[in-house]
Amino acid sequence: MATPVFMPVATQGALKAFDHAYLERIGVEFLLANTYHLFLRPGLETLSCFGGLKGFAHLDAALLTDSGGFQAFSLAPLVKFSDEGIEFRSHHDGSKHLFTPESVLAAQSVMGSDIRMLLDQVAPYGEDKEVYRRALRRTNDWVHRSWEHWQGELAKKEGPAGGEGLPFPILQGGFFPELRREGAREITDYDFPGFAVGGLSVGEKRPVYRDMAYLTGELLPENKPRYIMGVGAIQDILLAIDAGFDMFDSVLPTRNARNGGFLTSLGVRNIRNARFRREQDAIDPQCSCAVCRHYSAAYLHHLFHTKEILAAMAATEHNLYFVQEFVRQARHSLEGDRFADFMAAWLEVYPLSAGVRGVSAS
Ligand SMILES: [Zn+2]
Repeated sequence: MATPVFMPVATQGALKAFDHAYLERIGVEFLLANTYHLFLRPGLETLSCFGGLKGFAHLDAALLTDSGGFQAFSLAPLVKFSDEGIEFRSHHDGSKHLFTPESVLAAQSVMGSDIRMLLDQVAPYGEDKEVYRRALRRTNDWVHRSWEHWQGELAKKEGPAGGEGLPFPILQGGFFPELRREGAREITDYDFPGFAVGGLSVGEKRPVYRDMAYLTGELLPENKPRYIMGVGAIQDILLAIDAGFDMFDSVLPTRNARNGGFLTSLGVRNIRNARFRREQDAIDPQCSCAVCRHYSAAYLHHLFHTKEILAAMAATEHNLYFVQEFVRQARHSLEGDRFADFMAAWLEVYPLSAGVRGVSAS
């Protein structure tokens, strides 16, 4: 896996407004899908009939699945946390379910994902330190149980995907450096193949995010993939790479696209703006994606004003291509030891003081 890598979000096993049969065209090799959603619909039985999500969706890409805990916490009514796990009711039909550290790994094994996130407990944004401390304690107890479960799986070498997916624990601790340090000390005692940071991009201001990104980046092992969850704004990706992170995901580029927000080499451009009404150039004259090669900004402007389905498709294709290309260039600048210049140049176009920050829920 070449890193840094940005993973677009295919919540329900499909990217919104882009056909994954054409991933190659936009340079995407890695997708994220959500366990909570796929567990409820189509359900594990259906997925297992097809040997996992890749077989079901005819998906030719590497796959990371989350644990489902975050969505159960943010979407399900009547969610109840206990030492055992997370009990919740489906937001579709009210049916009752329990996610445990073991059951979410088993579910991700059925889905056949390449990277599998461990169950964690997220504390609501703005809570006091004690709430975050309790969430961290529980998360790290679950890390221990997940480790035992994985060791058992490896020993048995069974399960539809052969137990071959790589489990990543999630560092919690909110915005408290002491808790982040304590949490990192404990989870890095285990020899997991990679580590993630959760609980960021939940509504905090950029300087707070920046401080936490640099702190947590340093706390996790340098020789393993470091994944910062829910990060998708250009500025935030730059900070994360600078802080040592290798993997990112966010619904931001695709969601912005559907709202007419094009990420470009000139900054974010809103295609609905009247200035594009007769613009013959591409929305990003520097971009070589199929959309920018074929369509004028004026035509895209027209598509958005007439609410054509092609509007969302074209914008999504461009934004995903743009982010992949941006991350690919970042990778080259790291290899050539010129990332500092690369970052400074991009921050001129995407200043730290501007831009909507992502919230990772999808
Ligand atoms: Zn383009």
